[in-house]
Parts: sequence; structure tokens; C-alpha cells
Amino acid sequence: MARPHGNPPQCPQCRAGLADQAAYRSMMIPADMADEEPRAFVVIYCRTCGRALGLRAGFGLQT
Ligand SMILES: [Zn+2]
Repeated sequence: MARPHGNPPQCPQCRAGLADQAAYRSMMIPADMADEEPRAFVVIYCRTCGRALGLRAGFGLQT
């Protein structure tokens, strides 16, 4: 079902090679609770289709 295409790892949605197409963006994500501060996260995503692939807590911004 999965055809070989470029070098793994691949985007699970569009199968773009992530060696070329992965990117990250820092985002401030609001808290569910109104009295909590938004926190910085780094989202790793596929530049070809925009699918988010992973999320990491931002470092050194807020704890
Ligand atoms: Zn993709």
C-alpha cells in the first residue's frame, strides 16, 4: 500500500520526504483555563500539505 517514494521518514498524509519538507514554527498556544498564561510550543509540520507532525514545549520561554 505504501509505495516507496524518496527517503523516509515521510509525511503520513502526502508522503513528502520530511528531510526536505519538514519545518517548525513557534506558536503561543492559549490555555484552556482563562487564568493561565499562553505557552510557547514548537509545532513540527509538513510544508507540502501543512499537516502537523509533532509538538514540543518551547524551551526557555515560559515555565
Ligand atoms: Zn504532507
